[in-house]
Amino acid sequence: MKLIQKVSEMHSWSTAQKILGKKIGFVPTMGALHEGHLSLAERSQKENDFTVLSIFVNPKQFLPGEDFEKYPRPLEKDLELCKKQGIDIVFNPSVGEIYSEKETIFIEPGRIGEILEGKTRPGHFRGVCTVVAKLFNLVQPSKAYFGLKDFQQLRIIEKMAEDLNFDTKIVKCETVREKDGLAMSSRNVYLNTDERKQASVLYKSLQEAKKLSEKEKNSEKIKAQILGQISGQSLAKTDYVEIVNAKTLEKVGKISGNEVICLAVWFGKTRLIDNLQLGKTQ
Ligand code: AMP
Repeated sequence: MKLIQKVSEMHSWSTAQKILGKKIGFVPTMGALHEGHLSLAERSQKENDFTVLSIFVNPKQFLPGEDFEKYPRPLEKDLELCKKQGIDIVFNPSVGEIYSEKETIFIEPGRIGEILEGKTRPGHFRGVCTVVAKLFNLVQPSKAYFGLKDFQQLRIIEKMAEDLNFDTKIVKCETVREKDGLAMSSRNVYLNTDERKQASVLYKSLQEAKKLSEKEKNSEKIKAQILGQISGQSLAKTDYVEIVNAKTLEKVGKISGNEVICLAVWFGKTRLIDNLQLGKTQ
């Protein structure tokens, strides 16, 4: 495993591999790695000659007052995990290395980035798109691996790659969950014992909603069931629960089988997101 911290070195390495006709698989992360991240890496390792995993906590996707400073950064542990996993390159640039100019040009996703997460976190997805575009140019991957856990992010990146003609295929990877169903997330470490226990309601409510959607096609009724279940947990405070079209992410009134239920819920100071696709086994 090789650790690269410089933009110039990352670019020359990937250019050299491209000239040799090698396929590079890319897994962008913010670190604090868990099995979810490693499942993306594993898939990349199966499908490519080399796998690059980036660890970069991107300041441009955090809003003022969010957890940028306190976001976990256990670099030594992450490097150990990557080594054990057999990752070829870990790209871990500093903020100054990625954003060398004070003012940068942003990639603006438009409406798809302003709804759901984008409503609560305005500007979040322009930060995500901008850094992912930069990383794609540096790593030059044939395929890049993203988790369905962050459904909106995945859909936006897929659209960005299409709209801006990136030569990278976006690969969707299933959400890896804890035994009780909670989606693995680097932010789960913020939860105290009671919050952690109660957080399992998210996946339970999604699964039960999916079951209900087999006979009930009215989204409002399905949403009401989820909201009722979540509000039964004393420490949970719902930010949103929406049933949206899987492509446009616009809300739908009637279930046709191509929808995703997306939700964001606070447990104390921690905001968790999850989702479940309807009409598909997951
Ligand atoms: P993050 O480090 O949280 O920015 O996540 C990096 C990548 O890992 C993103 O594509 C996420 O969607 C993906 N990811 C995070 N958690 C999970 C999970 N539990 N299962 C699968 N993929 C995940």
